[in-house]
Amino acid sequence: YHAKQTRERVAIFQPAMLAKVQQRFILEQDLKKGLEHHQFHLVYQPIFDSHSEQLSHAEALLRWEHPTLGTISPAEFIPIAEETGYINELGQWVLEQVAEVLENWHLRLSPGQSPSITVNVSAKQCQSPTFADDIAALIAAHRFDPHCLGLEMTETALLEHSDNVQRNLKRIHALGISLYLDDFGTGYSSLSLLRQYPFNVIKMDRSFIIGIDQPHGKAAPLCRGMIAMAHAVGLTVVAEGVETKQQLCWLREHQCDYLQGYVLSRPIERQAIETWISPNLNSCIRLVRN
Ligand code: C2E
Ligand code: MG
Ligand code: MG
Ligand code: MG
Repeated sequence: YHAKQTRERVAIFQPAMLAKVQQRFILEQDLKKGLEHHQFHLVYQPIFDSHSEQLSHAEALLRWEHPTLGTISPAEFIPIAEETGYINELGQWVLEQVAEVLENWHLRLSPGQSPSITVNVSAKQCQSPTFADDIAALIAAHRFDPHCLGLEMTETALLEHSDNVQRNLKRIHALGISLYLDDFGTGYSSLSLLRQYPFNVIKMDRSFIIGIDQPHGKAAPLCRGMIAMAHAVGLTVVAEGVETKQQLCWLREHQCDYLQGYVLSRPIERQAIETWISPNLNSCIRLVRN
């Protein structure tokens, strides 16, 4: 009887498990060849100033075009890259791509006109003893205003190796780079992290924005509280995952500084983001030609 039960369990359980393990094994193997074969690229999601409605900055988001499996979500491959240690190479590649775009905009736009770009960085990167040096080297190697680069990190990235993290973030902040606390409110220690590290911006997690327009829910008072608290300590606030007009209006009414979400724009290709700033880019090109 016992044997039968085991066999049955195996028969039900195995195919799905096996498929999952196989898929993961394939991704793990293929990930390491991805950079070499130019399978990665960045898309940029515009983020808008909620008062002026102008483009404020953009978040760079990584995309992996797998040769047979198609587009794989970063939610799926970033954790694998973190576990295998490949994230260091991949993360450095992302930073270099963004530095090149910022340098290009710096050369084409007049001073102060280039939008900022934020880059998501993983725990492994923040905790690396050389992370601040890598960032300093990146700035030294490219011509752009360091204020145009932002780094987004989640709470989990900051929980371990706090000595390294502390040293890195202090130095990176001193270089003029803005620090964003991503997915704010979803971890355990948001407030102590704000006290401990020199953040400039919090990104209210999408899970809070979802319920914001429901009359009796807790999301709205929580968002109000987060905005008030952030402003009280001199931080600015981005709302992420804004999907409806109602959410948008609520956030503008309640002094949320910046807005990001599908209702405004999905992540788009570099050429497309350049059309947002193209009047400025074009006038500069003209100036250069004259
Ligand atoms: P994140 O940093 O919180 O980025 C925001 C995610 O929300 C993005 O998903 C974006 O496409 C999505 N999003 C934006 N607006 C909306 C909306 O209105 N509704 C909904 N449902 N989603 C919205 P994406 O691009 O799939 O990235 C997922 C996560 O993967 C990111 O979350 C970030 O943690 C990670 N990631 C992406 N690119 C990189 C990277 O270059 N390096 C690292 N380390 N992580 C990255
Ligand atoms: Mg982010
Ligand atoms: Mg986020
Ligand atoms: Mg998120």
